[in-house]
Amino acid sequence: MAVDDSLMGMPSASGRFGDFGGRYMPESLVPACLELEEAFTEAWSDASFRDEYARLLRDYGGRPTPVTDCTRLSERLGVRVLLKREDLTHTGSHKINNVVGQALLTTRMGKRRVIAETGAGQHGVATATACAMFGLECVVYMGDVDVERQALNVFRMKLLGAEVRPVSSGSRTLKDAINEALRDWVASVETTHYCLGSVMGPHPYPWMVREFQRVVGEEARDQCRELLDGADPDYVVACVGGGSNAAGTFAGFVDTNARLVGVEPEGGAAIGHGVPGVVHGSRSFLLQDEHGQVLEARSISAGLDYPGVGPEHAHLASIGRATYVSAGDAEVLEALQVLARTEGIIPALEPAHAVAWLLRAAGTDELPTGSTVLLTMSGRGDKDAEQVMHLLSP
Ligand SMILES: *Cc1c(COP(=O)(O)O)cnc(C)c1O
Repeated sequence: MAVDDSLMGMPSASGRFGDFGGRYMPESLVPACLELEEAFTEAWSDASFRDEYARLLRDYGGRPTPVTDCTRLSERLGVRVLLKREDLTHTGSHKINNVVGQALLTTRMGKRRVIAETGAGQHGVATATACAMFGLECVVYMGDVDVERQALNVFRMKLLGAEVRPVSSGSRTLKDAINEALRDWVASVETTHYCLGSVMGPHPYPWMVREFQRVVGEEARDQCRELLDGADPDYVVACVGGGSNAAGTFAGFVDTNARLVGVEPEGGAAIGHGVPGVVHGSRSFLLQDEHGQVLEARSISAGLDYPGVGPEHAHLASIGRATYVSAGDAEVLEALQVLARTEGIIPALEPAHAVAWLLRAAGTDELPTGSTVLLTMSGRGDKDAEQVMHLLSP
């Protein structure tokens, strides 16, 4: 395979990855995006910012995370399975890498307040965590339907000192929370940073969040080479909601010969079933009905329950550098149990999608016997244990 080293570098000046990305925002927010782009560009080329970020990820976040060689699962599947263990970070998922980066950038920009939106609450909890550590004021917008469904995460955010503002307009879920957060940002941009949770939204977010997650792929590549006598894995697999853990993982391997595989939930397969369009500030693939209305995504995993996908994944799919597949709820539940019993690792429902693909594809042309696979275990299953209990014994 020819290696294209322009991939997963900087986007174009207008924030595009091929035909995707860009900056589709109300006029009033364009200066805020430009300010952020300038601040991140400057910070990311400043060794002292990079050093401080690396130090925080090490001393607070628990990095580097290990790669685990799954001998029992490998034997069962006939492929060698290596897991990149983001489930072992502080807070238990890769989200910490992004929020620590954005909180550090917030202080560098001289801002003291952070806003975020959250659906299931995981990004809200992560943002509240980083803000507490930096002493930043934190306001999290959340649809009031979600506030009710996710009472424990609401409590966690409050424990961490954040203010949770329930949103009662529209469908009272994530997309209404995003609208409220944007309204806040228009009015408060002088003092406030908007902390986005994935490789989504207008430029520079998809690029910036991927860079903050790049550490996952770069660590994994070095760890794999150590385990594989200098070789790279044949396949690199990650689940895709907005696509940040996958983007960070792929960034470490895009210039190798590894095949990159993103796994979407069947009910939210924006690349699998979506069409190109603009949503939440950038052009990508999204789920739409025949009238162009954005459809609600549906998945047992709240973290993947999103109708769109980050624009860089749309680009990687369109040029054929990465492949996107999907997994359904039943096989995901089965995969969670197989990994728990075989390796003593209970995955979150999101990465259980990637495990489900692994179980289904192993030994077929899609993933031939004898291959080596690096799979990003994006988070631990504790947060989902109660839901899984009810799903298994209704
Ligand atoms: C939030 C979350 C995801 C989905 O987000 P991406 O941006 O697609 O990575 C995946 N796994 C876990 C454990 C999460 O918490």
